[in-house]
Amino acid sequence: MMLIDLHIHTSPLSPCSALDADEAIETAKGLGLDGICFVEHDAIWPKGEIKAFAQRHKFLILRGMEVNTNYGHIMVFGLEEYREDMYSFDRLLTYIQSVNGATIIAHPFRDPQYLRGGYGIMHWGLKPEDASQRPVFHLVDAVEVFNGHNSPGENGLALEVARHLGLAITGGSDAHTKEEIGAYVTLIKNKIGDEEDLIREIKLGKTEAQRLF
Ligand SMILES: [Zn+2]
Ligand SMILES: [Zn+2]
Repeated sequence: MMLIDLHIHTSPLSPCSALDADEAIETAKGLGLDGICFVEHDAIWPKGEIKAFAQRHKFLILRGMEVNTNYGHIMVFGLEEYREDMYSFDRLLTYIQSVNGATIIAHPFRDPQYLRGGYGIMHWGLKPEDASQRPVFHLVDAVEVFNGHNSPGENGLALEVARHLGLAITGGSDAHTKEEIGAYVTLIKNKIGDEEDLIREIKLGKTEAQRLF
């Protein structure tokens, strides 16, 4: 069983983040996690740099991207670079399929109001059965059901939808600062050592999500 924070943003690849990669790794180690994953906004760490971090810290470090698409924020694994046309979810899916990668819909019910400090009302009353009909849930490999920047209601609805559709689930802090790391984690039943392993476990549905603190 491995505990991994699958959703971390570092600076400068994610300009909105105040988190230095070395600091993020040390913090995750200090929390007793088994690994972390950098998913930068529309950008990806070069493979060599991640390898160097992993060797220096003797820690599992995975990488992906959080791509801004017309279907929302999609976490992707298996791709080596960002392209502008990935804003089109269809296009992104074509790229992912060509490398046998994996996709996770990130924080599917995040209300923009919440980001501005309030809980908003956008999704009040939305039933899981109705929300489950959104096309994106039928096209991704997993749903991020616990996100550290979401309200409990938004996370709860994501979990209900994932259960309703029998989809794989993940959790991550969406950390942009040191203090946020590890708020939610993904549990992976089998031991994994790289992104290829992660993709396989996601596609087999062998991931769970939980709150860490
Ligand atoms: Zn996002
Ligand atoms: Zn994010």
